Amino acid sequence: MVDSLSTRHSTMNAALDEELRILEASGLKRSLRQVQQRRAGTVLLNGERVADFASNDYLGLASDPRVARAAHAVLQAEGTGAGAARLISGNHPIHEALEHTLARLKGCDYTLLFPSGYMVNVGAIPALTDRGDVIYSDELNHASLIDGCRLSRATVRVFPHNDLDGLGRMLAAERHLFRRAMIVVEGVFSMDGDSCPLDRLVPIARRYDAWTYVDDAHGTGVLGATGAGSLEHYGVAGQVDIVVGTLGKALGTSGAYVGGSQELVEFLVSRARSFIFTTGSPPALAAATLEALRIAQVETWRREAVRDRARRVRSRLNAAGIATSGADDGHIIPIVIGDPVKTMSVVTDLRRRGFLVGGVRPPTVPAGTSRLRLSMSAVHPVELVDSLTATLLDVLRKV
Ligand SMILES: *Cc1c(COP(=O)(O)O)cnc(C)c1O
Repeated sequence: MVDSLSTRHSTMNAALDEELRILEASGLKRSLRQVQQRRAGTVLLNGERVADFASNDYLGLASDPRVARAAHAVLQAEGTGAGAARLISGNHPIHEALEHTLARLKGCDYTLLFPSGYMVNVGAIPALTDRGDVIYSDELNHASLIDGCRLSRATVRVFPHNDLDGLGRMLAAERHLFRRAMIVVEGVFSMDGDSCPLDRLVPIARRYDAWTYVDDAHGTGVLGATGAGSLEHYGVAGQVDIVVGTLGKALGTSGAYVGGSQELVEFLVSRARSFIFTTGSPPALAAATLEALRIAQVETWRREAVRDRARRVRSRLNAAGIATSGADDGHIIPIVIGDPVKTMSVVTDLRRRGFLVGGVRPPTVPAGTSRLRLSMSAVHPVELVDSLTATLLDVLRKV
């Protein structure tokens, strides 16, 4: 018994070791590092304070003491855990208060909270589509959207990034072959920083009776006059069937939601497996998010600051001949290097010089498009942003 078990283990380890070696050799091995004490756009990394241009804390709310205090008050009064799935005994009134607030922000009738954005997408997409349906998915969609499509039994068609004319042609040719059609896109694409022109998408979807599913993980809190996100930016609030947003990015907490009609939310409560079969998120977290939403609404300077910093970095990089994608003031700034090993060596150089930036490799992005991903935060001091740009230009000159 003991023998066969240990043999099994050693075969497993040998097999995994071999795969790890291959990953390492191709520059695709990933590993964790410890990051602590997030404050004012900096973090403590291996005991050293570095400027953080790798996180999605766009408004600087992840370390806001008011948000922490809101969580603290509820922790003291209610304890830590929700106790069970929300459908069993884990539905706290503060979950519903947050759902109402998010619905008002997004201009939809109802929203439903999930513990994470990954879970929204792997739960909602398969719940809404089945055999005989078709999903049109942008080729650059986030892994969680891809996995949601894989879990659905629908036919999945991947269309070239933001090619809405091509999408229209696909719909014209084959929409009639399927029961339901659903178009799945991101509001702001997480690794490219550009956005889907939703004002053009909505009429195409209407023409062919297709549902629209927009994951606005990166637009929420940042885009639009009131920070409602990409739908507000493109003037299509209330015109998208299924809207997804996350709370762990601009809002600085954790969790996510899906929003739309009352029917949509009622249906997902009964059918989205990643909602039904998981513990409700801690009530204190909902309290923190409500406070983050309040701050994001009243402190409009945060949205302006993040856009201002993005514009500043982009214009200097572009002036030096370095290409970036996305809008001029887009808060995610990708710089494509191509080779994953080279990309990670730039990331290492920057870290040695006090800057933490994202290095993005396959399978997160297509092969040959490994890149640096800089994300701006409202709480980055302008001098820090300028110093990042100067260091970046110096490091990039060498590759
Ligand atoms: C980050 C992200 C998610 C996942 O959200 P989590 O709450 O971190 O699980 C989903 N979709 C997109 C587009 C994202 O960028």
